[in-house]
Amino acid sequence: MLDYVGLESDLDAEERMIRDTAREFVDEKVRPDVGEHWIEGTFPTDLVEEMGELGFYAPNLDGYGSPNVSETAYGLLMQELEACDSGLRSMASVQGALVMYPIHAFGSDEQKDEWLPALGRGEAVGCFGLTEPQHGSNPTAMETYAERDAEGYTLNGSKTWITNSPIADVAIVWGRDRSAEDTPVRGFLVETDRDGVSTNKIDEKLSLRASITGEIGLNDVYVPEENVLPEVSGMKGPLSCLTQARYGIAWGAIGAARDCFETAREYATDREQFGGPIARFQLQQQKLAEMATQITTSQLLAHRLAELKERGELRPQHVSMAKRNNVRMARDQSRIAREMLGGNGITADYSPMRHMANLETVYTYEGTHDIHTLILGQDLTGFAAYE
Ligand SMILES: Cc1cc2nc3c(=O)[nH]c(=O)nc-3n(C[C@H](O)[C@H](O)[C@H](O)COP(=O)(O)OP(=O)(O)OC[C@H]3O[C@@H](n4cnc5c(N)ncnc54)[C@H](O)[C@@H]3O)c2cc1C
Repeated sequence: MLDYVGLESDLDAEERMIRDTAREFVDEKVRPDVGEHWIEGTFPTDLVEEMGELGFYAPNLDGYGSPNVSETAYGLLMQELEACDSGLRSMASVQGALVMYPIHAFGSDEQKDEWLPALGRGEAVGCFGLTEPQHGSNPTAMETYAERDAEGYTLNGSKTWITNSPIADVAIVWGRDRSAEDTPVRGFLVETDRDGVSTNKIDEKLSLRASITGEIGLNDVYVPEENVLPEVSGMKGPLSCLTQARYGIAWGAIGAARDCFETAREYATDREQFGGPIARFQLQQQKLAEMATQITTSQLLAHRLAELKERGELRPQHVSMAKRNNVRMARDQSRIAREMLGGNGITADYSPMRHMANLETVYTYEGTHDIHTLILGQDLTGFAAYE
């Protein structure tokens, strides 16, 4: 596996073990069928609990069954999952960073007891409902709202593009509390079997096909007071979850790029044209050299992010830079790898075109590339250019 500047030597025993466990899991259990799942538009749901048993959901959290592994170990885990398929990493990202993290950070003791162990073991599946049909890049304008009465809240609205909503037991739904002054955004734990909840699946995706995506319809859905995340109010709630998930994506995308690189390198060595392997041609070597360089610089950025996160010095803007850079890198390099495989490169027998199509989603979700550009622009100049 590409590790051109020897980052392996900085890993401790636990980090290597977690990486190797994930690598073996995907090689044995997922990689053999992932192309078929992708073509069929299915996710291997039978593996959800096994992924939980292996500790793939938010192992960087502390307590409630989570072992509090290092941020590097967590990043390496995301990298290995996405080296198989972005859909697999998305499952772990949503469950861990977008569902378990907010319950852990902002939930009541009762909410933590009820949900964190079950989600961590994969016995329950969660989803994160922020995006709405009319509000994607600007979630602050969300229309989903809650009205309070004596004992709880009634929710109305719709969310779309929600990873795992059709298979979720619980949704974290972000909506405005219309009964409170200034209508703050609040997080609600909505069990998907409540009256008035619908979770239609979105079919015909041409990207992230080995991942289940759906809507969340909320039609007069009643939740009791104890289902509100008590410790957060305002956009800080969803945005802090996104920072966690984007951190994982910045690592994960490198995995997809590395898998493309390894596939292209092996193919170029084996494939013969004009009397020998195509790897002997300078044009092919230039592509591999560029790919290896881009992957290596992205790895360095990700490792630095982990150090900053451990020290408590990581800013959301750092994460924006890494998500923006590393996903663009992976998107570009997957295309070069696809090209190096010639006609075979357009089939599902090889991973690059599957990764390439997946990375269109990764480039778009969790803040589009454009939005991260504007976040960095604001940080660098002091001027917000969103409107
Ligand atoms: C497969 C998949 C899974 C997803 N999973 C989830 C999930 O689990 N939970 C969830 O809540 N959401 C999820 N999303 C939604 C995702 O986060 C949104 O698609 C994303 O935020 C972009 O929103 P949008 O699609 O409405 O695009 P828009 O916001 O309409 O953007 C359209 C284009 O305009 C550009 N643009 C927008 N504003 C500006 C601006 N100010 N300046 C310059 N350009 C701008 C964008 O960069 C983009 O290119 C998922 C999406 C996909 C595709």
